[in-house]
Order: sequence, then C-alpha cells, then structure tokens
Amino acid sequence: MNIATHMMRAGGAFAERPAVAVGGRTIQTYGATADRTARLAGAMRSKLGLRPGDRVALALKNCPEYVELLYACWHAGLVAVPINAKLHQTEFAFILKNSAARACFATTDLIDTIAPLASDPLHTVIEVGSRDYDRLLRTEPMPLVAQAPTDPAWLFYTSGTTGQPKGAVLSHRNLLAMSWCYFADVDQQSPWNTILHAAPMSHGSGLYGLAHVMQGSCHVIPESGGFDPTEIFDLIESWNDAAFFAAPTMVKRLIEHPQDRDTSNLKTIIYGGGPMYVEDCLAGLDRFGPKLAQLYGQGESPMTITALSAAMHADKTHPRWLDRLASVGIPQSAVEVRVTDADDNTLPPGEVGEILVRGDTVMNGYWQNEAATAETLRGGWLHTGDFGVFDEDGFLTLKDRSKDLIISGGTNIYPREVEEVLVQHPDIAEVAVIGRPDREWGESVVAYLVARDGTEPDTSALDTYCIEHMARFKRPKDYRFVEALPKNNYGKVVKKDLRTLDSES
Ligand code: AMP
Repeated sequence: MNIATHMMRAGGAFAERPAVAVGGRTIQTYGATADRTARLAGAMRSKLGLRPGDRVALALKNCPEYVELLYACWHAGLVAVPINAKLHQTEFAFILKNSAARACFATTDLIDTIAPLASDPLHTVIEVGSRDYDRLLRTEPMPLVAQAPTDPAWLFYTSGTTGQPKGAVLSHRNLLAMSWCYFADVDQQSPWNTILHAAPMSHGSGLYGLAHVMQGSCHVIPESGGFDPTEIFDLIESWNDAAFFAAPTMVKRLIEHPQDRDTSNLKTIIYGGGPMYVEDCLAGLDRFGPKLAQLYGQGESPMTITALSAAMHADKTHPRWLDRLASVGIPQSAVEVRVTDADDNTLPPGEVGEILVRGDTVMNGYWQNEAATAETLRGGWLHTGDFGVFDEDGFLTLKDRSKDLIISGGTNIYPREVEEVLVQHPDIAEVAVIGRPDREWGESVVAYLVARDGTEPDTSALDTYCIEHMARFKRPKDYRFVEALPKNNYGKVVKKDLRTLDSES
C-alpha cells in the first residue's frame, strides 16, 4: 500500500482538526492539508514532469510545508529525499547527484545553497512559500498512485564510513511497520495528540510524524524552526498532550533550563539517536515525571530496533530498574534482534557482540550500492555495526560501535569525513579524528594532527579552513598536535590508543 493513504484518510475523517501549526497558531486543518497534498502531487507529475519512482529532494529546515511535501511525493508515486538542512553545500551536491533527484524543494535560507547546484537531472528548484509554490497548489488534485509495499518511499542518507553518505532505501512497508511500532512499543497515543517538531524533520522527528498523521494529531513547528528550550517550554504549555522526539543533548538542555516551567501538558519526550547517561535520565524523570521513552534505531531500520517505554522508565520498584535505564530496552515488535559473534552465531545473554536486526522495518538496501547492501544485509540480517549485550530479561545494552562513528549532539559524524578534509590542508601531514566523551554533547570531535615540516598551523586558521569545507557541526572542537600518531605494524592508526592518550592528557 501507499503510506500516503493515511493523509487522504485523515483529510476525510479528521477534516476539521488542526493538522499543522506554527508556534501556538494553527495554520491548516487535515481537510486542507490533504487537499494541498493531492494538488502538489498533481503538480509534481503534470507541471514538473516527474515520473513514477523519480526522486524529489527536500532541502528544508523544519517548516509547515514539510508534511504536505512528504505526502505529496508519496501520493504521486515519487521518492522523497529529505536532506539535513545543516549540511555543507558540497554535501548537498553529493546527495543531489547520488540520488539523481530531478526536483528539489528548499526553504528560503537554503535557496542560495541549492539553486547553483541545478544541472541535469536536477531541473527544478522551488522555494517553499514562493509564488512558484503557490502556482503548484493551484493544480487539480490527482488520485493516489498505487504502490507495492516494497516500492521506495524515503531515501535516508546516512554518513558513510568511507566519507561518502549512503542512501538507505526505505519502502512504504518499512515506514508503515515503523509507525505501528511507535504505538505498540514507544508511546501509546491518546486521541488528538500533538507532535512538536523540536528536532530535524529530515530525520527522527519527520519519521515519527507519520504515526501522528495516522492518528490525526497536530504537527507543531517551532517558530524558530530549530531547537530553543524556552520556546519548547512555551509550546508544551500551549498544546495538549504534546509528544516530541529529541536527541539526548536536547533533553539535557531542557533539564538544565533555569526556569521552572509547567510541563503538566507534556505527554512524552522520546529520546534516542545517541547515548543517554543514567544520571541524566534520572534527572529527566525528576524534572518531567514518568514521561520519558527511549528508542534505539538507525537509518537502515528507522527508529525501530529496540525501545524502553515510559512504563519501563517509571517502574522504580523493579530490582533491575537502574540497569534497565542504562539499556536501550527490548526489541520493538516488528523486528527480531540478535547479538552475534564475528561469524554471525547468536551469543547468549551476557556476551557482547554485534547487533543484527531482521524485520519489516529493515531497508531494502543502499541506493545503487550493491556491494554495501550485500555486506550490510548479508544472510538476510541488518548488520548494525553497533555492539551490545542482552541481559536474561531481553534488555539490550549498547557497548560500543564497531564503526568509528562519533555522535555529537545526537548527530552522526564519521571521523573519516573530517579527516579527509583536514588531510588536504597544506600544513598537515597526518590526521586522526576521534570522539571525546563530553557531558553536554555526548561526544565532541577532536583532531590529532602531525604538522608538515614541523610547522604547526594556527588552530584558528584550521578552524576557518574546516568551516569552508564541511558542515560547521562536524568541525573539531579541539586540535592537538603530536610528533607521530600511534600506529600498528601495518602502519594503521590505532584509534583505541589515541583515545587512551586523549583521556590521559
Ligand atoms: P542514524 O543512522 O543517524 O539514525 O544513527 C544510528 C546510530 O546512532 C546507531 O547505529 C547507534 O550507534 C546510535 N544510536 C541510536 N539510538 C541510540 C540510543 N538510544 N542509544 C545509543 N546510541 C544510539
């Protein structure tokens, strides 16, 4: 089935209910949103000349049009490619080219970044809210296009270990199963919930938006378009039963907010995407009451590997309550999860191994990358690259990541991407990037450098260099010069030793 069926259903059954709001103000009902969705879909096919299966890039910071654009793509049988609005122009260029997107919708702040990238096959770049956009909305609504469950719906670009992002192909079935798991395992809804889009809609917040369309809940977009703790508290006060997805860093910022705000309207904060310290989790429960839920997932099985529900967070009398808070919960109901040794043999509880996942939420594969698909989905199981351990009760605790991924503020940063930029600097001979545990960000990026000819470049100049060549949030927070990097007999940098060195310095 086509996941956009839900928007048409909501347009009839919840026609008068608020669907989209900005700040405290409702701007569209479900009736209107469904109508705009079908018109935009018609325009994409007739006016923009897109064909079934074509990719449509969404270079949007959180905005009210995000919901109708996602659904319009699906309604028209097209594939949405939501892109993180904070990326660098070179990263946008890579994703647009790799996905061979034929059209791109962009928010005003990103138009100057995206417009110069138009070239074959990207023939149309449209600014949301512009006159061109309004013209599309004046097209006749088109009927919903039939889709097979395995037809691609969302190309989710993850940062690649090789420095190049890979597009996880998520099908209509994947998105449907993910949405059911939201209700079954993460957060039971009450009628007419609200979802606050406090985190980027290109990722977790947008993915969880789908469950809220199923239920006819209102999508509230912060006026700031981003995450401002004071505004989030204002929105919690003004909307009933508000739920939202947040990276652990964001939860921490809310906990530490100096104002004592009323959060009785809050329904649930769903956190995930990076590790949450038990201490912070306890502080969160103290601050908000039993309103925290956790998910563990990855782009390849979106939002859906394990979950620790609000009820599990609240179960204080359980003898293993604290251990459970330190875990990522139990497998979500659409998936089977195993912990395995290097030969994919299942390990018993108590033994650490790689986490493998199988089920209806697991991606079709990587976009036009057969080698990576075969490697990651070998034996029919998603190899997450994360390491963890089950306890006797079936709760999974994450131990390590096999990839050298750094998660800073809930966002993935692959050291290789940063290294590849720094190593191009004329004064840098060698570089190795690691994550340093950081109370605020989870991890921060640290670069260890060997200067060429012994002359160390000024770190502020290096910082400027990074800003020019990569997304700002990926640049190192600290630059350390060393005589030589720790290496093994094969000449490879031993990151474990570097981390030890870093923790001792
Ligand atoms: P992404 O593909 O951007 O969603 O990143 C997925 C990665 O984030 C996973 O493979 C994990 O390493 C990490 N991650 C996701 N959820 C959690 C969580 N609840 N706790 C710790 N790490 C997490």
